[in-house]
Amino acid sequence: MPDTARAPNDLDSFWMPFTPSRTFKDNPRMITGAKGIHYTDVSGKELIDGTGGLWCCNAGHGHPGITKAIQDQAATLDYVHNFNQGHPIAFEAASRVVALAPGFDHIFFTNSGSEAIDTAMKIALAYHRAQGQAERRILVAREKAYHGINVGGTSLAGLPLNRAQFGTLYPHVHHMRNTGTEANRFSRGQPESGAEMAEDLQRLVDLHGGGNIAAVFVEPVVGAGGVYPPPKGYLERLREICDTHGILLVFDEVITGFGRTGEAFAYQAFGVTPDLITCAKGITNATVPMGGVLVPTRVREAFLKGPHAMPDLFHGYTYSGHPLAAAAAIATLDAYRDDEIFENVKRVAPVWEDMLHGLADLPGVKDIRNYGLLGAVELETQGDVGAAGKAAHAALWDAGLIVRPIGDSCAMSPPLILTEDDIARIGDIWRTYLKG
Ligand code: PMP
Repeated sequence: MPDTARAPNDLDSFWMPFTPSRTFKDNPRMITGAKGIHYTDVSGKELIDGTGGLWCCNAGHGHPGITKAIQDQAATLDYVHNFNQGHPIAFEAASRVVALAPGFDHIFFTNSGSEAIDTAMKIALAYHRAQGQAERRILVAREKAYHGINVGGTSLAGLPLNRAQFGTLYPHVHHMRNTGTEANRFSRGQPESGAEMAEDLQRLVDLHGGGNIAAVFVEPVVGAGGVYPPPKGYLERLREICDTHGILLVFDEVITGFGRTGEAFAYQAFGVTPDLITCAKGITNATVPMGGVLVPTRVREAFLKGPHAMPDLFHGYTYSGHPLAAAAAIATLDAYRDDEIFENVKRVAPVWEDMLHGLADLPGVKDIRNYGLLGAVELETQGDVGAAGKAAHAALWDAGLIVRPIGDSCAMSPPLILTEDDIARIGDIWRTYLKG
């Protein structure tokens, strides 16, 4: 069929992610351009990208150095695989990423956060099997966790809607509680109380036997579940229990990686080092899909020794270390360094925190949560759960600010190049909305 036979505004062909297409068609919000912290919609209206894309455009949109690196790479070496051959820039990208992560020596490249999670699950299971501990099959995650949407990540998910359509996938998963409690509403940064919820892991150890648990997956700051920073002492206690029982601790840093907390990775901000880290999003400033699993040598070498040694990990994607993604990653890490972007987060995060908590007394606000350049304003539920969040999203959009509604919480994760003036502008838009 010739292309001209297509309706010019065909909104049916694209089966959109996480979107009821019928409602989208009633009010299609179309973005056609982006620069810095702004998007431009199809009518030419400028909006503040309060969500940094989808928690991922850390260096801002349209960064010239990243754009040029991708263009040049596409013209030089568009694609080559990395199975028993390779290209130098995948190696360079790998060493540049691990240089940001003390304690980690290798990165396994994937194309997304979801693939990073499934890869980390497989590494964890294979690691224990290599050491003759195939009985370690249980994985532990948390309520409200989001670990992507592949079969592994859906099994780990702590969000009921993300699981409901699929039934049991990987069956050996148990969940701990989410740490958001009534007592720590309106905490600034890390809540003071709630560390005792790490004892949920101890209870699972007592019930199932620590020797049957392979790994614990946590987002250091829960992101897509509504932005919940860890209570002080919580991650430390998880680390302790994992150490005692030989369980791998995996930090899913798909959102928190690459400066979101003011450090390259959140494990550095919280001072607790996991055994594996998953990352994606900010690794290429979201320009070219890429993710990865960061691994220390002691975990990687387990495949080479022990009763079930294999030559290495039997796992890989056609696009693991894709040249365009690798070029984008190197240019992105250059941008983070040269534009002092992580330093900017450290500088403006207190201003961000003050702006957000300055909204606390306005009508309809139930909770405010923040860490680094992450934030959520939770609104009082009005009628159906999610209706207030949806209404806020629509009104804030019309006022020129994009937020991400999660139930009745509106999450924000702006580009990390945010200035004090940008924060003031976001605060003004929020105040005008809340004052009605
Ligand atoms: N883990 C976390 C913590 C995430 O926030 C996300 C995406 N929002 C993922 C995994 C999945 O990443 P992707 O959408 O790139 O597959």
